[in-house]
Amino acid sequence: SFCFQFIGSIELQIGRKLYFQDIGVSAVDECESPDGAGCSSSDSNEKIPLPRDIIDALMNYDLKLPYSTEFPLPSVIPCLGGCKEAYYCSKSCAEADWRLYHSLLCIGNGSSTSNIEALLKFTEHANETNDIFICAAKAISFTILSYRKLKAAFLEQKEKSDAPNLQKHNLPLLVDAWKPMSMGFKRKWWDCIALPADVDFCDEAEFRTQVKDLALVSLQLLKDAIYDNECAPLFSLEIYGHIIGMFELNNLDLVVASPVEDYFLYINDLPSSQKEEAERITKPFLNALGDDYAISCQGTAFFPLQGCINHSCIPNAKAFKRDEVYMLLIFQITISYIDEDVPYKERQELLADYGFICKCPRCLEEEPQLS
Ligand SMILES: [Zn+2]
Ligand SMILES: [Zn+2]
Ligand SMILES: [Zn+2]
Repeated sequence: SFCFQFIGSIELQIGRKLYFQDIGVSAVDECESPDGAGCSSSDSNEKIPLPRDIIDALMNYDLKLPYSTEFPLPSVIPCLGGCKEAYYCSKSCAEADWRLYHSLLCIGNGSSTSNIEALLKFTEHANETNDIFICAAKAISFTILSYRKLKAAFLEQKEKSDAPNLQKHNLPLLVDAWKPMSMGFKRKWWDCIALPADVDFCDEAEFRTQVKDLALVSLQLLKDAIYDNECAPLFSLEIYGHIIGMFELNNLDLVVASPVEDYFLYINDLPSSQKEEAERITKPFLNALGDDYAISCQGTAFFPLQGCINHSCIPNAKAFKRDEVYMLLIFQITISYIDEDVPYKERQELLADYGFICKCPRCLEEEPQLS
């Protein structure tokens, strides 16, 4: 599974937070998600930095913090391809990601991609411009990998039956592989992206052209890395634009509470003598983290399945974890794309970003009546 899980240990989590703080980027704390997630970070409170060797000791498990064993986390499983970029909470998570997405996009020795250098260039470009490209690459990788699986199964079947009229072109298989994506399929990115506040209205056409050009550069880099002739239609600018647009329109916010926050709250709630003793050790770390100690991992993710689940303002599921995705599949239940606690008018405004007007039972009831 590609859960959003904190992994390793409290020490590792704190160490990583401090490490990323130190090098000036925000950390991604959770187990790799199917379509990428990033953590938010704020630099409000003054932090008292710790020396780098202490941070390293935390990450290397050389330094133990008091009571951290009260918060056991799953151990860290590295990527099967050996890229040292992807980490998982379990072997099954690592295998599933490898099978479904990562084997084509991995930069390790075991990668199925021959041109790792091109892959690095693609990623670098995405990091510098818009990391939505990385999500799009995952969608393409997912489709190519499932196309290959379908084709292998098809060839196997053909061999068994050896019926001559079982001739099937590659395209229907590719269409099948594409199905989960096509459900979220909406509009081209450069057409649906909202005009940023700092862009003047009369420059809109130019802005949209720039966005399209950016997508073209990214697509070229991705083609250099993972192009597959049998899946050529996936690499057209039109499709690439639609995939990115799909992420723009179907993203769901994910929030995972941080065990680091729970840990410091636990220390704070200890009986005073124990607390004093523990804080002698933990206080410098809390000071170094500043407000960041309480930051939950926030990210947006696109799940092909969730993208086609209907929205309702009285949802009967929360789009948080994979287990629930299974539930959604089975029971056809609805989730809320937005904060459903806000009033009718605000809800409709938020949903406008997704391109529809909600007509769920609650909205129908709360809808202002025209007399
Ligand atoms: Zn996991
Ligand atoms: Zn990898
Ligand atoms: Zn509604």
